[in-house]
Amino acid sequence: MRTLLRHGTVVNANGQQRADVLVDGERVAAVGAGFSESVDCVIDATGRLLLPGGVDVHTHLDMPFGDIRTADDFASGTIAAACGGTTTVVDYATQAKGGSLREALDEWMTRAAGQAVVDFGFHVCIADLRPDVEAEMASLVAEGVTSFKLFMAYPGRLMLNDDGILRVLRRAAQVGGLVCIHAEDGPAIDALVREALAAGHTAPAYHARTRPPASEAEAVGRAIALAETAEAALYVVHLSSATALEQIAAARERGLDIMAETCPQYLVLTEAAYDAEPAEAANFVMSPPLRPPADQQALWAGLERGDIQVVATDHCPFTRADKARGLDDFSRIPNGAPGIEHRMALLYDAGVAGGRLSVERFVDVAAASPARLFGLAPRKGAIAAGADADIVVFDPAGTTTISAATHHMRVDYNPYEGRTLRGAIDLVLARGEVIVSGNRYVGAPGRGRCLRRDPFGPRTA
Ligand SMILES: [Zn+2]
Repeated sequence: MRTLLRHGTVVNANGQQRADVLVDGERVAAVGAGFSESVDCVIDATGRLLLPGGVDVHTHLDMPFGDIRTADDFASGTIAAACGGTTTVVDYATQAKGGSLREALDEWMTRAAGQAVVDFGFHVCIADLRPDVEAEMASLVAEGVTSFKLFMAYPGRLMLNDDGILRVLRRAAQVGGLVCIHAEDGPAIDALVREALAAGHTAPAYHARTRPPASEAEAVGRAIALAETAEAALYVVHLSSATALEQIAAARERGLDIMAETCPQYLVLTEAAYDAEPAEAANFVMSPPLRPPADQQALWAGLERGDIQVVATDHCPFTRADKARGLDDFSRIPNGAPGIEHRMALLYDAGVAGGRLSVERFVDVAAASPARLFGLAPRKGAIAAGADADIVVFDPAGTTTISAATHHMRVDYNPYEGRTLRGAIDLVLARGEVIVSGNRYVGAPGRGRCLRRDPFGPRTA
């Protein structure tokens, strides 16, 4: 099967050009002009941008949470991702207490295999660090699972102490793994939460007040110090505040290998969402929480400067009914919000159409950088000869209106309800096949493949 996309503007992180794209089978055969090969299908991309398929490296699909689960499984979640122009996801598999990393990986693989419609991989969260778990890290990296996540929040459940963080960082640097870290000062936050509840402050708004920016900045600073001590790289997930970003920028200035991710919710929404009535405000309870407008502006500046390299979603959807469990006690509201479907559209609208990011930088933070950092380049993240033919045909003159009534995520609200965004997705190709047309998933069920990822960075070269 050969497809020719004609007369579009091909955008990669390092530049854009008017060009045709020849797809042969699952891969891009060539980018250029004057192709005379016979093809099975011609797509006219006049006036359209041809973007590399998005790479979302922070999702929580089919994740157990106490006696409930996130609302999207790997089928619904990846169909939503595809409809939003994301053709690769890297999800988080979490180690159970007493369990091995291998068991976590196997469990998540069972949930994804035959369900996911886009290509996928896993980071493994280390929640119970034992010597045998440290030893396991090398074998996972060797088979293409090359990143690990640690928590500085949620003491007693997921948090590792500094000695554990240091050990994992050192081990990861030795074996070619990249450590992702959830940086919030868990013990301090838990104290604030207990105080708030004891004082009768139970409304969802107190979720944000008990997780102040300083608790994020403290953890980011500590994580950077530990990475420096371990001589390891570090990737900070879902960065939300200006003071935490200052720590990242200062560390990078000193030449440390520190990277950061933020999410559309921190770029587009603010803490004003918590002023709504509790049943609505609960839908915006996530960790870290939404922040004041000044933090949002700082994050945009960090993206422009390059101190933040990746925009991922932290897609962690819970239904209104699940959220309502905590209306009398904010600490019982399941944390997280849906976002996998509209990352590309929100970032294009607010970033590119809004004049904050070049279209190349948009492609960089949404596809190229996450692919590179997590060992998926050059296969993913670029439209280039030899790469997988994951291509979004994007109409910059179109519009996208967001609503829970029309989205594909299996959750009964959308944090961006009613917004009309500049830009629209016409078609999405994944490994050469049209899988989305006119906001409908038209690909085969369960077509996604598990990706073997390369080890991280120069340390393994
Ligand atoms: Zn997350």
